[in-house]
Amino acid sequence: MSEMKVDQLADAVLSGQRRALARAITLIESTRADHREEADRLLEKLMPHAGNSIRVGISGVPGVGKSTFIEAFGNHVVDQGHRIAVLAVDPSSKRSGGSILGDKTRMETLSRNPGAFIRPSPAGRTLGGVARRTRETMLICEAAGFDVVLVETVGVGQSETAVAEMTDMFLLLLLPGGGDELQGIKKGIVELADMILVNKADGDMEKPARRSVAEYRNALHMLRPATMDWKVPVQTCSALTSAGVDAAWDQVEAFRDVMTQAGHLQARREAQSQDWMWTEISEGLIQRLRDDPDLQDLLRTSEQAVRDGRQSPVTAARHLISRFLKVDPS
Ligand code: GDP
Repeated sequence: MSEMKVDQLADAVLSGQRRALARAITLIESTRADHREEADRLLEKLMPHAGNSIRVGISGVPGVGKSTFIEAFGNHVVDQGHRIAVLAVDPSSKRSGGSILGDKTRMETLSRNPGAFIRPSPAGRTLGGVARRTRETMLICEAAGFDVVLVETVGVGQSETAVAEMTDMFLLLLLPGGGDELQGIKKGIVELADMILVNKADGDMEKPARRSVAEYRNALHMLRPATMDWKVPVQTCSALTSAGVDAAWDQVEAFRDVMTQAGHLQARREAQSQDWMWTEISEGLIQRLRDDPDLQDLLRTSEQAVRDGRQSPVTAARHLISRFLKVDPS
């Protein structure tokens, strides 16, 4: 793609053309080196127009009702006059070849809503790679005029941290149940939460859901809040009936207002950008070292020597880094 074509694509994205947006994201997700260069140029052009959204991460164990919630929430948010982009970080997507947003039967009405844009998780071998592309996709969606970005992840692993590191607010969905459920979910994930919703608060589950809310509120007293000046709301909702979904959106808006006024939102994004740069540096350096043709033999023999206990991992790493940088071992 020539410079001019990248310019045209950028303009088409900025004017809100959906096909251009989809094409831009496909370019971002490509692993080809020449595509990467074009993607970088595209991002440089679009970056000045990005940032104008509230970025919400959402997580919860499989079955808690994430996609049902996102559908109800997304439709509500669009009804309020917003445009919402729904992305996903799913490090496990290689398992089935599908992804958490890839299932066509999920979010059927939202996917037909002209105010919404849904993009499944990109394929990728590493969480870092998937997270990077999701971050970049988020920026492109913002440049295309989406003012709410929702990033979904499955509540089972490290991807929560990755999502919290790219969003303004982290929303955790929980099931009605005993207080021990809070222990079941990794404490670290609860500590990331800026809002907790106990979903499925309908029918027979309504009462247990209310009980759970009280228990979680108590439990939260013992944790330090994820964000300064923000008391983590714990509320019930039913993604199925949409009860409480509007209240959840109200909290997102309240969070955005409070955090913007206090300057925390800007500070958080600045820190995230800086961290992102360092992540790129470490991953980029490691990749180059791994790919260095002059190092291939030494990499193999060092790995074996470390396995056999003939060399310490520290010495081997030092030696490899020195050889990579072509300097004397320090
Ligand atoms: P996910 O795996 O977290 O995305 O969960 P899903 O959205 O696919 O929902 C899992 C199951 O729970 C589905 O059968 C939903 O219909 C059901 N479900 C989701 N939200 C609610 C709710 O608020 N109330 C009830 N009763 N069922 C729900």
